[in-house]
Amino acid sequence: MLDEFIHEPRIAYFSMELALRNEICTYSGGLGVLAGDTLRSAADLELPMVAVTLVSRKGYFHQSIDATGHQSESADAWDPAQWMTFLSAKVALTIESRTVWVGGWLYILQGHMNGRQPIIFLDTDLDENHPDDRTITDRLYGGDERYRLKQEMVLGIGGVRLLQAIGFSVRLYHMNEGHSALLALELLRRYAYPAQDLRAGESPYDVPRVRELCCFTTHTPVEAGHDRFDYQLVRTLMPAFIDDHTLKSIAGEENLNMTRMALNLSEYVNGVAKRHAEVSRSMFPGYNVHAVTNGVHPFVWTCESLQKLFDTHMPGWCHEPELLMRTDCCVSDPDIWEAHMQAKRELIDEVGRATSVRLDPGVLTIGFARRMTAYKRPDLLFSDLRRLRAIAQRHAVQIVMAGKAHPRDEGGKRLIEKLHTYIRELADQIPMAYLPDYDLNMARLLVAGVDVWLNTPLRPFEASGTSGMKAAFNGVPHLSVLDGWWVEGCIEGVTGWAVGNSADTDSTGDAASLYDKLETAILPRYYRDRDAWIAMMKSTVSKSASYFNSHRMMRRYATEAYIR
Ligand SMILES: *Cc1c(COP(=O)(O)O)cnc(C)c1O
Repeated sequence: MLDEFIHEPRIAYFSMELALRNEICTYSGGLGVLAGDTLRSAADLELPMVAVTLVSRKGYFHQSIDATGHQSESADAWDPAQWMTFLSAKVALTIESRTVWVGGWLYILQGHMNGRQPIIFLDTDLDENHPDDRTITDRLYGGDERYRLKQEMVLGIGGVRLLQAIGFSVRLYHMNEGHSALLALELLRRYAYPAQDLRAGESPYDVPRVRELCCFTTHTPVEAGHDRFDYQLVRTLMPAFIDDHTLKSIAGEENLNMTRMALNLSEYVNGVAKRHAEVSRSMFPGYNVHAVTNGVHPFVWTCESLQKLFDTHMPGWCHEPELLMRTDCCVSDPDIWEAHMQAKRELIDEVGRATSVRLDPGVLTIGFARRMTAYKRPDLLFSDLRRLRAIAQRHAVQIVMAGKAHPRDEGGKRLIEKLHTYIRELADQIPMAYLPDYDLNMARLLVAGVDVWLNTPLRPFEASGTSGMKAAFNGVPHLSVLDGWWVEGCIEGVTGWAVGNSADTDSTGDAASLYDKLETAILPRYYRDRDAWIAMMKSTVSKSASYFNSHRMMRRYATEAYIR
């Protein structure tokens, strides 16, 4: 089964989370979905890659929400045996002076076209392991610092060793975010010069060689968001892995900073949007941070009715999404409108099934769904309820929201509760639904079935954001703060609208701008000038989807990061 994959040298893509399919709940949000789209496009383009992630047997978590908006979490367990094959190879690493065995499951990702991509899910739930170690690969982003560092050791160190044990020949390692940066330390050890070849005091480590082998994509535009570990903890869990002096020169003096380590050991480094690369360059002066703006997978994120339309008018769009630039000329108004209305009815049916809210297909629907956390400001739309009511008085509005808050993100959980108070308070005038347990399938329904996709992050915290790109594939214009990809994607009145201006970072100003856009630009166009609205739906596909797709992204990684 592996023969097909191990003959040709491959790019090893490491990611802590990975969203492959709805039933495999090993992702928490945008990072994992991006990793999934990366591999789906790599499969379609037949790029020789192999992915490594953790099996996360208990998933991220299953979200239930009570009537007051209180989130409770339960395990979201899945059975790897149902989807993948357990490999015979296993490797050992030492964690806290105990041997921990790491095995792997092989999943074969079938591209939409012809390609196939091997994915290894690392697993420590093996009979030979101590009971405590069997749970290391259980919960994605669960547990404390110690648990996290153990997971990152399994991912980085275990992953590199297992690829070798299986027989893969790796020509480059791509770290998707800093979680896997220990892989570079493992490579430093692997390629160290033997002691007898060294002069006294000379370092055995071949940093340039490791840098040639590694590339790193950073996703976090704030220092505080980077994974870092206390050296005390590092010494406990991975004693004598590498000498202190070398480690600190690579990973930082104060604590082990995974981002620093990845930056120092990668020849190619990039941010996930042009603005994010600028922010990263000012955060890490002295590093050459390139920009490869994210994209989403064309086929996976387009609803069925629009897929059919694109197939008819622009055959080949799944392989060459650039062809979608013809949408504004080739697709008729009634056709795209009817395709959209079909997606909208499907969403409204689902909202009716999942909640008691009945939405009206004739009413402009705003969608907002993503990880619930403070910087995303899901409550910005509700900062002035009187103003919102006045706007909805003139032109009807309805709203659908969804999203999970990390179990330890108290602020995020309070936001979900707050949104539920708005749902109750506005129920007499603005129908609003909050769908529990946001996942890939729900995202697919939402981005296609709403009329406007909203994003209101606090600048500069949104490195890229990708859900607005998914909406674009479905002809749904984007209303967003100018951050992340939207700095590049926004053409005012053509692909969507900007909230606020790119300079200020003040919530009051952003809220006023959001209300102004709704009141003066969006609602009047939707209700009074349907032709102009449909023209905008088409230009959204033509101009945003043709560019912000993961095929373009992977062609760029291939030509700029992988082949140097
Ligand atoms: C696309 C996606 C995200 C990321 O959304 P952003 O708006 O980019 O933060 C998160 N969760 C799921 C399930 C998604 O499909």
